[in-house]
Amino acid sequence: MVATDRVYQLIAEHTTDLICIHDLENTIRFATPSSGAILGFTPKEIIGRKLTDFLAPEFVSEMDFSTLTRFFDHPGSRIRYQVRHGNSNRLRWLESTFSRIDEGSRKYSLLSSTRDITESVHLTDDLMNALSTEQQLSRFKSNLYSVASHEFKTPLAVIQANIEMLKIKKTPNVIDMGLETMEGEIDRLNSMIADMLQLKKLTMGKTTLKLENVDLIAIIEDVIESDCTKAYPEIETKVKVRKGDVQNLRGDFSLIRYIISNLLINACKFSKNNTPVNIGVDFEDKFVRVEIADQGIGIPKEDQASIFTSFYRARNVSNIQGTGVGLSIVKEFVDLHKGKISFESMPGEGSTFVIELPYTIEI
Ligand code: ADP
Repeated sequence: MVATDRVYQLIAEHTTDLICIHDLENTIRFATPSSGAILGFTPKEIIGRKLTDFLAPEFVSEMDFSTLTRFFDHPGSRIRYQVRHGNSNRLRWLESTFSRIDEGSRKYSLLSSTRDITESVHLTDDLMNALSTEQQLSRFKSNLYSVASHEFKTPLAVIQANIEMLKIKKTPNVIDMGLETMEGEIDRLNSMIADMLQLKKLTMGKTTLKLENVDLIAIIEDVIESDCTKAYPEIETKVKVRKGDVQNLRGDFSLIRYIISNLLINACKFSKNNTPVNIGVDFEDKFVRVEIADQGIGIPKEDQASIFTSFYRARNVSNIQGTGVGLSIVKEFVDLHKGKISFESMPGEGSTFVIELPYTIEI
């Protein structure tokens, strides 16, 4: 018997789990020395208190306290919770199991066994994050395959048809027209590939800002001249500074150019009957606002909530080329600049996209 007591004492003194015996009110009446490592308090400091006294306030505020106090009503169950370690600010995840003690005097009710599971919780979080990135990548790949097989085929078919025509007819006129068409299709292919690479970079969190002084008006004028007028010569695109003094902003030149270019090309691409595209710029105190208004086909109400989702295209654009990738990239780039993007659209009447970019970004 003496030998058995000694063995129990050795177990209690050397266990790495915290073992406590609780009275009928669940107050701790006995605790192993491992309480120092697990809770950051000596057995003396925790005797007379309850396990729930050690819960981290941020954990309690996120949970219904009554579910926590049910700790004790379910012997055999396993409960995970967060505590502050001793008097420090360090948060630890603990897991406790409870077993009911049925001893004659009815002085004690429960035995709890608690271990620190912080490392495994963090490992699980890391694994879940990796899994979600992996799932996003896999969704990205499958969307990419369907877009590539569909949208990339059209420019290739146009190029192929022009080559066939040039083989048959070699008049200067046909050659000029053929080359121009093929150049346009190659530009389109290049920009689709650039979009895909951009999106992949964003999905993998690899896009960073290279901040410099950016002349927004110069970008808008350059996009009108090199991207819009070239591809949509019949559409008149006008820019007007409506408010404030023109000033530069701190931002990433190529990302801001991408934002403006995508919004302007969309406005032209989805315009109807050669209607104009109007760009209004307001230089406010802390940010600049750009409004791009078209009188095009508009966005059906049912699609409006999803158009910033990558690969999403509204139901009324199936006969107009595109991948549904540009706007999702625009949204991410605006977010990286701590800006805002919104739009209003009436199906059949037109759309107005609005971006607001701060002059300086506090990162
Ligand atoms: P894409 O232009 O390649 O289809 P985007 O990602 O740029 O892809 O845009 C996503 C979708 O949002 C478009 O397919 C279209 O349905 C809708 N959209 C964007 N801009 C406009 C606009 N100015 N007018 C009408 N629809 C628009």
